[in-house]
Amino acid sequence: MPHILIVEDEAAIADTLVYALQADGHSTEWVTLGSAALDKQRQRPADLIILDIGLPDISGFETCRQLRRFSEVPVMFLSARDGEIDRVVGLEIGADDYVVKPFSPREVAARVRAILKRMAPRAEPAAAATLFQLDTLRMQISYRNQPLALTRHEFRLLQCLLEQPQRVFSREQLLDALGVASDVGYERTIDSHIKSLRAKLRLVASAAEPIQTHRGLGYSYSPDHA
Ligand code: CA
Repeated sequence: MPHILIVEDEAAIADTLVYALQADGHSTEWVTLGSAALDKQRQRPADLIILDIGLPDISGFETCRQLRRFSEVPVMFLSARDGEIDRVVGLEIGADDYVVKPFSPREVAARVRAILKRMAPRAEPAAAATLFQLDTLRMQISYRNQPLALTRHEFRLLQCLLEQPQRVFSREQLLDALGVASDVGYERTIDSHIKSLRAKLRLVASAAEPIQTHRGLGYSYSPDHA
């Protein structure tokens, strides 16, 4: 039974979500604070978190940022505002979906189902894993049986992307993976590493495009294009 954590300070909204999700066969837990959500996720990890942006202690965005330091759990934001900026910020910091209030609880339940379904195949290594061979001990990656001559940063970037096929990583998240502090100009740093990485991959397969660009969001590894 999938376990859903609801983080929402308005009881009426939380109640409708609890009802709709339980009717859909999920177990639920409800907290009103971002800090409580972080504690819960450490104690009993949920399969998905529904996270209100306007919370009494720390915002949903900040909660998500802190959450991402230790958990890859899917996050669906609830927002009172319908702003493109919110949506982009939400996705940038690692949310999987975004719902604007007022919403239909049944629609939220349907989206939760869709996210959980999308997550399920991640447990198994992608079929295209055979195209890339990752040797973390030797810090070596082979592509179509050809060892790639990668810099340390390129290796870490590609490893990060390969480990979660289809997931869109923001430049900030990729920078985290490199262990480099986010600073002015960091977007260009990632872009230039990706550019040189792609050039090396093209030497092996000129028509393939395993690293996909998502405008305004970041990059992902697509086994379908490898
Ligand atoms: Ca709220």
